[in-house]
Amino acid sequence: MSLFHWTCNHGRAGIEATGTVEPRLILGLGWLAWFTTEPHPYPERTGLLHVCPGSPTDCYRGAWRFVVEELDKCHSWLQSTEREKAEERAIIDIERLGDPWNWYVASEPVKVRLG
Ligand SMILES: [Zn+2]
Repeated sequence: MSLFHWTCNHGRAGIEATGTVEPRLILGLGWLAWFTTEPHPYPERTGLLHVCPGSPTDCYRGAWRFVVEELDKCHSWLQSTEREKAEERAIIDIERLGDPWNWYVASEPVKVRLG
């Protein structure tokens, strides 16, 4: 299995500075780094249509793909303790249009490479 993290130009700069995808705070869900099993996901179902708050017009999350190099740090979202601890409303919101059976999460930084 491979896992992928998609990001915009803004996100790419941050990832390349550390070589890792860092967990980010999502209200109701906690601090999580997100990945997908899909090498070419549907943008909407994977959340790639969300844009950076400060630069909505030049932000596209499907611009760059990183490949996970530390699979052991990631686990299936649907079976995760992170999901068990999350707020029900936030879970419904994020899964509503998505394909969460493809999603993996980590609560710590995960090493990746552009690919
Ligand atoms: Zn952006």
